[in-house]
Amino acid sequence: MGEQGKKIVALDIAQLLNLLNKALADEWLAYYQYWIGAQVVEGRLGSIVQKELEEHAEEELKHAKMLVKRIIELGGSPVNHPKQWIEIANCRYDAPNDVSVEAILKQNISGERCAIAVYQKLLDFTHTKDPITYDMALEILKEEVEHEEDLENLLIP
Ligand code: FE
Ligand code: FE
Ligand code: MG
Repeated sequence: MGEQGKKIVALDIAQLLNLLNKALADEWLAYYQYWIGAQVVEGRLGSIVQKELEEHAEEELKHAKMLVKRIIELGGSPVNHPKQWIEIANCRYDAPNDVSVEAILKQNISGERCAIAVYQKLLDFTHTKDPITYDMALEILKEEVEHEEDLENLLIP
């Protein structure tokens, strides 16, 4: 990022980078939780749920990419080891040990609720201080809100 681009970020950059890396770890865990859930899910409407889980996995991966881009622009280093994902993540990783549609949907709904809180916090932190990160967080938040709603709708029989 250029000189003026950096100057307009009126925040503690280290603190901002820390929040962005934590969100990046969350996205990877969310990606994998959706992806593996899509592979193992069984039961009524399983194929419809599988398709939705796979779509969400792709969107989480896109969020990870947006975060990495912003971390690099801000002069930071994105998390580069899987070990760090669980260590620094805000949200828990729920392994789909129970492969029923209902259990997998419930796990991912709670993941989305955590993600919504993470991006709300990032929006509060960057509001009026860093419009670029704010805009990115808002774009991601919109999709997390949509994810929660999609899964809630699939849970209702
Ligand atoms: Fe996400
Ligand atoms: Fe999501
Ligand atoms: Mg969806």
